[in-house]
Amino acid sequence: MPVSATPLVVAVDGPSGSGKSSTARGVASRLGLAYLDTGAMYRGVTWALLQRGVDPADAATVAATVPEIRIDSGTDPLGPTITVDGTDVAVQIRGEDVVRHVSPVSTVPEVRAHLVDLQRAAIEAAGPGIVVEGRDIGTVVAPDALLKVYLVADTEARAARRAAEEGGTDTAATAASLLSRDRIDSTRATSPLAKADDAVEVDSTFLSLEQVIDHIVTLVEQRR
Ligand code: C5P
Repeated sequence: MPVSATPLVVAVDGPSGSGKSSTARGVASRLGLAYLDTGAMYRGVTWALLQRGVDPADAATVAATVPEIRIDSGTDPLGPTITVDGTDVAVQIRGEDVVRHVSPVSTVPEVRAHLVDLQRAAIEAAGPGIVVEGRDIGTVVAPDALLKVYLVADTEARAARRAAEEGGTDTAATAASLLSRDRIDSTRATSPLAKADDAVEVDSTFLSLEQVIDHIVTLVEQRR
């Protein structure tokens, strides 16, 4: 039988703080696949807009500016990178300003269209396969993915993890920020956060990271 040229795609979607990044990176390294963090791309565009002095709430200017922004994603799961116009912005995109504005920026259809094109190109270039994490991977970016995972966790667990990642202790404020982003992400008109009909829901609230990775790796092995 000829070897298929279509890369194996594992889609990992879910709300903020459900553990998508650590899970997706872990699955990719265990399976020898590439890894794409699409949230970092939306954050990168938001950072570039703020650098240029563009008001993130001005959708027309955001739409006109996005084609000028060059986003490059490195897809090694052991050391993913994100550069904007040639500058490494891995640290800057986790800043409070970017966090506050990224969800409104992500509602702009032209931003989504531009990044979805880049994401599909990264999938095509991924060789044997890729684990892609985001909000609309199973529904829009890669509807033919071999496996679609919808990762969820209780709000408290999500806030505790995010606060720990960000070095903060104010989990109440982190929870409020997560819920605000969830609301914008799941109610926007263009490709909202949604579980694909054929996605497998995994609740990570009471599971360790290793348990979640094991579970997903088993699901991939069963399907390929
Ligand atoms: O996953 P992360 O928290 O880095 O995503 C940041 C934001 O980027 C999300 O809150 C969402 O607004 C946006 N996003 C999106 N579609 C994706 C990935 C992220 O709209 N596929």
